[in-house]
Amino acid sequence: MTENLPPCPECSSTYTYQVDALLTCPECGHEWSLQAEAEAEIRDSVGNVLRDGDTVTVIKDLKIKGSSSVVKVGTKVRGIRLVAGDHDIDCKIPGIGQMGLKSQFVKKVSE
Ligand SMILES: [Zn+2]
Repeated sequence: MTENLPPCPECSSTYTYQVDALLTCPECGHEWSLQAEAEAEIRDSVGNVLRDGDTVTVIKDLKIKGSSSVVKVGTKVRGIRLVAGDHDIDCKIPGIGQMGLKSQFVKKVSE
């Protein structure tokens, strides 16, 4: 019973194999979850597909609910985690802490 597994999102290798809920790529060592793969892709403000661990910048000042803090436009956020919901990015912002962002207010940056 061979399943039709999706190719590696990192290097497009088709030799991916499944270990429990994780897919693993033998060519680049990338691991990702099959469940996340099945969900709709989350895209940034300009349509780049976002992935766990990406670095993004904030494209507009974002007021933080219940606080006077503002996440300034241009703030760089490393190591985002994609989650389900209205605020679909879970991340830690320097000087502010753990919070949720909306993908339409960020832009992916390549480091
Ligand atoms: Zn790969």
